[in-house]
Amino acid sequence: MFAFTYHRPHSLRSASAMIHKVEEGKLLAGGQTLLPTMKQRLAAPSDIVDLMQVPELKGITVKGSTVIIGAMTTHDEVATSAAVGEAIPALAKLAGGIGDPQVRHKGTIGGSVANNDPAADYPAACLALNATIITNKRKIGADAFFKGMFETALEPGEIIKAIAFPVPSKANYQKFPNPASRYAVVGVFVAKKGKDVRVAVTGAGQNGVFRARTMEAALAVKFNAKSLQGVSIPADGLNTDIHAGADYRAHLIGVMAKRAVAAAV
Ligand SMILES: Cc1cc2nc3c(=O)[nH]c(=O)nc-3n(C[C@H](O)[C@H](O)[C@H](O)COP(=O)(O)OP(=O)(O)OC[C@H]3O[C@@H](n4cnc5c(N)ncnc54)[C@H](O)[C@@H]3O)c2cc1C
Repeated sequence: MFAFTYHRPHSLRSASAMIHKVEEGKLLAGGQTLLPTMKQRLAAPSDIVDLMQVPELKGITVKGSTVIIGAMTTHDEVATSAAVGEAIPALAKLAGGIGDPQVRHKGTIGGSVANNDPAADYPAACLALNATIITNKRKIGADAFFKGMFETALEPGEIIKAIAFPVPSKANYQKFPNPASRYAVVGVFVAKKGKDVRVAVTGAGQNGVFRARTMEAALAVKFNAKSLQGVSIPADGLNTDIHAGADYRAHLIGVMAKRAVAAAV
């Protein structure tokens, strides 16, 4: 690892001031991605701004029919939150299926969403639940936030404060996990709110998380696993790697989507 200067601000305002003042700074959340990247010398920030002591980024609140989760909330806190479990059980289940206990106790929702790993679970939840990413500067809808593999709408130094999830009437997440890391080979999050049905796929797309519009249209007619019979996702544009080929991923999307709908109803 290269040498760097470590900062520990105690407010969002000072975190923002620090990250803009330094030469090549990086925000640190749970460190589950950033620190391995630095150890492998794939990143060499001059300064690290640790968000751990920033109180504005913590906590889970339910306001009306919206669940708001602070960026520094760990996956374990989401998984075990009674408020999340009651309002959006699919989201609590998703968080409980991330990585292993060590990763869940350190990794944060803000870090995961900011990182936008193409195999991460939360981006699928954000997209399917039509979440809003709240930063220290603005509010960004999930459709506009996820731009591509490891790419988001965040500007340099912009800090995610919280993520607001509208409570759906029905939702479920099914993942075919990599047996070693638990990252999604394919994960499908299905959500219904009123007449609006959204299906988001992670782990499969060459450009990261995406919405399966043909599945959404079929499910909008009738929200039932049978509606997905004959609706297939083309393998073009899907990933092929050592874990799975594009054809297999396309097949898995269908299987996971049907399971998610069946579980949601
Ligand atoms: C062994 C292992 C298994 C894993 N398995 C899974 C899995 O099954 N599913 C899954 O979804 N994930 C998985 N992960 C990823 C992990 O859960 C974390 O979500 C992920 O590493 C990022 O979160 P973090 O809090 O550690 O962020 P960090 O590593 O601290 O930061 C990641 C990036 O986000 C930026 N950032 C962090 N917080 C903010 C913020 N508030 N505003 C703006 N930018 C910010 C940082 O600058 C950095 O660029 C795994 C990780 C490991 C090491």
